[in-house]
Amino acid sequence: MMAAAAGRAAAWFHDLERIFLVKIQFLGANRQVTGSRYLFEAGGVRVLVDCGMFQEREHLDRNWEPSPVPPREIDAVVLTHAHLDHCGLVPRLVREGFRGPVYATGASVDLVEIVLRDSAQIQEEDAAYKQKRHRQEGRRGPHPEIPLYTVKDAQRALPHLQKVDYGKPLDLGRGVRATFHDAGHILGSANVEFQVDSNGSSRRVLFSGDVGQWGKPILRDPTLFTEADYVIMESTYGDRDHGAREDVETQLGEIARQTIDAGGNLVVPTFAIERAQELVYHLSRLMEAKAIPRVPVFLDSPMAVEATEVFERHRECYDDETWELIRSGRQPLRFPGLKLCRSVEESKAINDLREPAIIMAPSGMCTAGRIKHHLVHNVARPECTILFVGYQVRGALGRQILEGNREVRIHGRMLPVRARIAEIHGFSGHADRSALMRWLGAFRTPARRLFLTHGEPEACDALAGHVQANLGWPVSVPEYQEEAELA
Ligand code: ZN
Repeated sequence: MMAAAAGRAAAWFHDLERIFLVKIQFLGANRQVTGSRYLFEAGGVRVLVDCGMFQEREHLDRNWEPSPVPPREIDAVVLTHAHLDHCGLVPRLVREGFRGPVYATGASVDLVEIVLRDSAQIQEEDAAYKQKRHRQEGRRGPHPEIPLYTVKDAQRALPHLQKVDYGKPLDLGRGVRATFHDAGHILGSANVEFQVDSNGSSRRVLFSGDVGQWGKPILRDPTLFTEADYVIMESTYGDRDHGAREDVETQLGEIARQTIDAGGNLVVPTFAIERAQELVYHLSRLMEAKAIPRVPVFLDSPMAVEATEVFERHRECYDDETWELIRSGRQPLRFPGLKLCRSVEESKAINDLREPAIIMAPSGMCTAGRIKHHLVHNVARPECTILFVGYQVRGALGRQILEGNREVRIHGRMLPVRARIAEIHGFSGHADRSALMRWLGAFRTPARRLFLTHGEPEACDALAGHVQANLGWPVSVPEYQEEAELA
């Protein structure tokens, strides 16, 4: 009897302790740029902020490890945006027993569905390919030859998604509320601000998610905040600036015009979400202004086409400039000559065209997908241009072309690179160091602590020093699985 009573008392104290505790555990994006995941605990409510996939080679193991927090003990998941490194492990969390809601903005929910289904399909294809290769080589690899999750797993996760409006506090119970604000990074992206009310006092904890750039097309600019007790901020470009802002539209127009004048195709490897729609937006304006001739423009990817439809459905995310276009009777993401290609037949037909065209297709780094077919048909033609608008990771086919390789291997064939190679830098979706400082600089007083995440070690350490020296904020760069009590 005594033991049972003592046990009940201990459990009661434990609960009481939890009720007054506000803490955070860092479960990813620590001195790295992928795997964003934080356990935020307040008033006994446990919320996972983001549930992202790890994509750096040296940390892929973490995707396979059981969730560091028992999924059944998590009350809700809050997603800042639809990039895979912020939402990619949700299907695994659900398979492991998570039963709660996954909250995100309406646009994010629609994009997350596309991203997770695509990711699951890639996981299945990769596992099948690995099985085949390992069978041929008579060995086993470091990771299981099964998909991280299947398309079925992804489908089972989708009903958990729940849409939340920007600016409307979401009640998570026990005095904990979360509000989503524009982050200006991709469609639907948000900074998430938690307010914890207990015993007449109130605390604010702000998660930046990924902070976008000011002046991006279609999206509103990042929100500026004036106060928070604790801030968790990304630091992808914490050690550098993007350089003098380039006018991407003017550059795109010049490169397109020169290529069309030469009678060639402009081939643009692109990511299916955000970058593809930004390109369509700029091309639409360039053609309307007659800065480039009206040639056929192809967006060749079922995923990019679906994402474009999500962009068109979520006008609530548009900035004033885009609304002006709509009021003047134009559709920002449609124009005469734009062809959205879903089927393989539509994709193949592009190569039969005998007039110059603009062809956009994923993947953005030319590692897979339809872009490889278009490169086969265009890379050896001096009148064509291959235009890079995104980061090319070391070793990727895109990087080989960009670095000036005279020959590249595509689909098992060596092809000479004779096309013109061009690059536009200004498309980055992330705030650079100056923009991050501008974001922090809007606070009236320093937060009690700033935690820097989502950056390579050099980037977060450099930014930590910079913030301490210039703004006087206390700064930490947490390690993987580190906990911090927010007193
Ligand atoms: Zn992102």
